[in-house]
Amino acid sequence: MSTIEIELFSDTKTKPSQAMLDAMMQAECGDEQAGEDPTTLALQERVADLLGKEAALFVPSGTMCNQIAMAVQCQPGDEIIADKTAHIINFEAGGPAVIARAMIKPLDGIRGQYTLEQAREALRAGFRHAPSSKMIAVEQTANLGGGSIWPLAVLQSLKELAAEHNLVSHMDGARLLNAVVASGVSAKDYAATVDTVWIDLSKGLGCPIGGVIAGTKDFIEQAWPWKQRLGGSMRQSGVLAAAGLYALDHNVDRLAIDHANARTLATRLAQIPGVKIDPLTVETNILIIDVGEAALSAPEISERLLAGGVRMGAMNPTSMRAVTHLDVDEAGVSRAADLFAEICS
Ligand SMILES: *Cc1c(COP(=O)(O)O)cnc(C)c1O
Repeated sequence: MSTIEIELFSDTKTKPSQAMLDAMMQAECGDEQAGEDPTTLALQERVADLLGKEAALFVPSGTMCNQIAMAVQCQPGDEIIADKTAHIINFEAGGPAVIARAMIKPLDGIRGQYTLEQAREALRAGFRHAPSSKMIAVEQTANLGGGSIWPLAVLQSLKELAAEHNLVSHMDGARLLNAVVASGVSAKDYAATVDTVWIDLSKGLGCPIGGVIAGTKDFIEQAWPWKQRLGGSMRQSGVLAAAGLYALDHNVDRLAIDHANARTLATRLAQIPGVKIDPLTVETNILIIDVGEAALSAPEISERLLAGGVRMGAMNPTSMRAVTHLDVDEAGVSRAADLFAEICS
């Protein structure tokens, strides 16, 4: 395998920096399952406060955050409304069917976002033969939507719809802080539109592991047995929580750099014949690149990029995904664009 010098496959590929590792080395630890790990408790408090919720819980992954939120809030047979591109539908190994045992109604949104009208139409009439609509789920930012940001006003209208129909609501906030930095809307304001919300530490924030889910005290009480059941309870998790605290101090504002690099990359790629991407649609750190009219297929381009030390994923024969993050700088993005152009010429 060739060495990857420029990693644009995903922001999950970030490695902990030396300063983050130093913070981890200093962490005060205890038994997390017993509520005795002070650093984990501090992280949970910090995230609850950031999101304006009563309480929060540290778990090993964002996927577990989603699974717990659905398991606590849905009964088997209930229905969850989500965009067809949602992570809970496509990348959680069928978890909702196994764990919450809920159904998901996929909506045909644009760039990962459905409209208020689509959500309203998707609601079940509430008669005996139909599943009951239970949860409205959104992803901020929408991953397969190219990192698009749900406008606050849309989220607020979905909140009203949920209230009208006695539904719960959940935000997969894997990249919520990207949306916050790009839009200037606070995390609290976005989070106020849903009952449960989480942030991922292991994406753009650069931590090795972890997600933190927040909601009411009662929700977190009920989340605990699910975390235990799923094997997510930990012991001296302070070393991991310390990375999270470090990231919240140092790696949030700098997401703006990733967004600028993503926009630069999009602008450069858009100039290549046969490559289509509108830089104006790149709101955060994810690019979905249409190479349907390029001379090579997406997997071929991906392979040749890799041979040149640049990794970008092929999503299907005609589209590719690139994600910027703290381990790729402007020069790296520029080199990736040069190589991409050379391959397609
Ligand atoms: C990465 C991701 C997740 C899952 O997070 P993990 O920490 O990798 O389990 C969930 N939702 C979205 C939108 C993601 O991008």
